[in-house]
Amino acid sequence: MKEYSECSKCGFVGVANYDAFEPAIIQCTNCEHVYSYIWCEKCGIGGDFISNFDEKPDSWSCSDCNTTISIPYNTYLRNRKLKAPLEHEYEEVGVPRENPSESNVAFYVVIILVIMVILYIYDLGV
Ligand SMILES: [Zn+2]
Ligand SMILES: [Zn+2]
Repeated sequence: MKEYSECSKCGFVGVANYDAFEPAIIQCTNCEHVYSYIWCEKCGIGGDFISNFDEKPDSWSCSDCNTTISIPYNTYLRNRKLKAPLEHEYEEVGVPRENPSESNVAFYVVIILVIMVILYIYDLGV
């Protein structure tokens, strides 16, 4: 199963083969960082929660709701590679497009700067 994930170190958003409801160890192909992924059913959130996965713990307790989730040993046998999404995977896996609003923000910043410069020049002229 393919899911998207965000590297907890460099913020790279990619696609890896794992099940969103199962624990996984994910390796970012952008920065080589290895991190964990675990899902708390009760809280309905998933994230890089297993901090000591080098020790291969067989369970994890959610700090918010105290639910204990067992981590199968085979979770540690393979690092899921977090790769750049292929074009069709954006739709298929639901990968968020990289901040589509960011270019708009940049656009408005430029407009505001231009207005400020104009006002400044106008001010000097007066
Ligand atoms: Zn990374
Ligand atoms: Zn929880």
